[in-house]
Amino acid sequence: MPADDRTAPPPAPKVLRVAVPTPLRRLFDYRPAGQPPAGGWRAGIRVKVPFGRRHLVGIVMECAAHSELPAHQLKPISARLDDEPLPSDWLWLCQFTARYYQHSLGDTLHHALPGPLRQGRPREARIRERWQLNTTESSALDALARAPRQRELIQLLAQHRHGMVSAAIMAQGYTRAQLQGLLDKALIIRTEEPLTASEGWSGALLAEPSLPLNREQATALAALHEGLDRFHPCLLHGVTGSGKTEVYLQLIEGVLGQGRQALVLVPEIGLTPQTLSRFRKRFRAPVVALHSGLTDMERLDAWEAARSGRAPIVIGTRSAIFTPLARPGAIIVDEEHDGSFKQQDGLRYHARDLAIARAHHDGVPILLGSATPSLETLAQARSGRYRHLRLTQRPSRHAPAKLELVDLRGRLRQGGLVPPAIDAIRQALKAEGQVLVFINRRGFSPSLACHQCGWIAECRHCDSRMTLHRQPPRLVCHHCEHQTPQPDACPGCGSADLRPLGAGTERSEETLTTLFPDIPVYRIDRDSTRRKEAFDQILTEIRRGEPSLLVGTQMLAKGHHLPHVTLVVVVNADAGLYASDFRALEQSAQLLVQVAGRAGRADRAGRVLVQTLHPDDPNLRLLADSGYDALAYQMLEERRLAGLPPYRYLALTRFEATREEDALEAAEAAGEALREWLSERRSSVHCLGPVPAPMERRQNRYHLQLMLSSEKRSALHEAGAWLVGWLESSTSRKVRWSLDIDPMTLS
Ligand code: ADP
Ligand code: ZN
Ligand code: ZN
Repeated sequence: MPADDRTAPPPAPKVLRVAVPTPLRRLFDYRPAGQPPAGGWRAGIRVKVPFGRRHLVGIVMECAAHSELPAHQLKPISARLDDEPLPSDWLWLCQFTARYYQHSLGDTLHHALPGPLRQGRPREARIRERWQLNTTESSALDALARAPRQRELIQLLAQHRHGMVSAAIMAQGYTRAQLQGLLDKALIIRTEEPLTASEGWSGALLAEPSLPLNREQATALAALHEGLDRFHPCLLHGVTGSGKTEVYLQLIEGVLGQGRQALVLVPEIGLTPQTLSRFRKRFRAPVVALHSGLTDMERLDAWEAARSGRAPIVIGTRSAIFTPLARPGAIIVDEEHDGSFKQQDGLRYHARDLAIARAHHDGVPILLGSATPSLETLAQARSGRYRHLRLTQRPSRHAPAKLELVDLRGRLRQGGLVPPAIDAIRQALKAEGQVLVFINRRGFSPSLACHQCGWIAECRHCDSRMTLHRQPPRLVCHHCEHQTPQPDACPGCGSADLRPLGAGTERSEETLTTLFPDIPVYRIDRDSTRRKEAFDQILTEIRRGEPSLLVGTQMLAKGHHLPHVTLVVVVNADAGLYASDFRALEQSAQLLVQVAGRAGRADRAGRVLVQTLHPDDPNLRLLADSGYDALAYQMLEERRLAGLPPYRYLALTRFEATREEDALEAAEAAGEALREWLSERRSSVHCLGPVPAPMERRQNRYHLQLMLSSEKRSALHEAGAWLVGWLESSTSRKVRWSLDIDPMTLS
């Protein structure tokens, strides 16, 4: 043992158990070396360790007296990176995540750390930068005629005679690049000062007064205020535009009033400048935003601001759930049903579910908000485990528009649109309105439909739809493994017009341009929104309110406020409604309601047309006539009968390999081993498969899956843990596998 270890105050442990970023689900033992941390070795201290031929950044999880390894094999760490451990609540969350999702702890911690900390960079900078004007405001502005953001930044700095620190400037939405630009022009100066640990934000809370609440909002807020000091899960179930955000803002006001912090999770496409500015306008306190557009250093700044308690409000997308808070006060999940909260590869976690676990651990309230709650959340609210708070009225005069179903069968189509829809578009434009044409391009696994009579391929043995597979052409049921060849003609009417649902809508934009040559057509999808400046320009054009056509995908369904839209046309409702995935109906209904919510938000009433091959479908009728809640409660009943979530828990094991035989052999061996293990223990867990994945050939690899299900979460987890252990030790390297706990899709 090195001499300096003996001189340090607390005795050093003999062994450090370190979580290392590898897929292996275990800790690795090392010998401490060098100067121990001031407070002694503890869980949460980052170290650099030799691992194979590399050196990796790991985190000490345990300090032990003995190792299973013989002494000569126990390698010393190569460096200690921290003096202070990472926060223990944060470590708890990572451990919970790794355990719940059967993922390696080292990988989970790695995922949850900001990039610079992952790479071994030091934690909090010991210094802090302060920025000040170097000249008069007016001469600085003169020098910046064509840089509007930098001009605004100058104006902001001009209000602070003693300058501002980086975190406060970033919290207003500015970037380091903008600061650097001003610094390069010598318009501002930068000074460094030591950082004091207790630095906090203080002073008046609100920058603008909160709105007087209506009765329902006030009732909801009062219920939330009752549970501020404990775990108190609540569903804020309110139609689009019913004022949920106002309730969030006033809940946060209460949390900040207690000197605590609020964490707000929003969907990927919900973190718009509009959302942020609403929070920033309301509070004088800094609002820190965590999203994919940040540089690594900006992310670290935000992370440290949250960890130290300097940032009272943290807003972010999915991964923000891993932001440590010094004084947690409440967690809010907006649009809790949104699919983007679930990570679909690597560490397959659900940020909403982790938020609930975290709130429980921290003993703080959690508010889940949605106009269209997930069936999981609705079931909890109905059983009374979550408090069910409702907002049924909109402050604006117009109630959300009803869905009008338009029959697609046997009708002439132009770019996917039938004559009644085209007429409605013409009328809306004539009345100076804007029209939103919505194309559902979600990647549901396709089913086969007859476009003459509406027949859809269903499984003979169970109630689900068959999924169309291309190679070879056939229909497969993913609930019972039944397969049939692809039919040449419709079994219902004999027509040969059989197509995958959702095909043939790609040309809507072109068609609209031809039909309405004088009207501007704006396209809003993932591509157009990625180019930020171009997209801002489109939004500015749209907000001027001239008659125009907006053609878009999911991106359009939420987030952006489009006050002049008076008509929404949904080109293809069926692709989602009749997909074979068991969540397809729920997600499609949510999407339809969200899209419909875009019509008539300001001073005009709206209309929503939904094109479908199935105007008589009982689910669609129920949604159109009675709304989302009625359909949701019926879907819950169906899920209960079918033994599906939220009444049964699922875990999906996916296998893939270049050669079909390799994947099949691995999946079959795993299924066999698991079944044997389950029957020995008389486990209640059910194992189905292997079955080919809905898209079995992707990127030249063959995909298969094995499904585990159980009424008991704990039994499912035991089986999952066993299976993962078996797969780790027994699966050939030619096969890639993964386990998805609570999968969102079966594809
Ligand atoms: P949601 O989050 O449910 O979609 P918002 O909070 O965005 O709803 O509210 C919709 C609109 O109604 C916003 O313009 C908001 O400012 C306004 N609003 C919300 N609550 C009130 C209120 N109590 N009084 C007046 N206007 C309100
Ligand atoms: Zn037919
Ligand atoms: Zn079946």
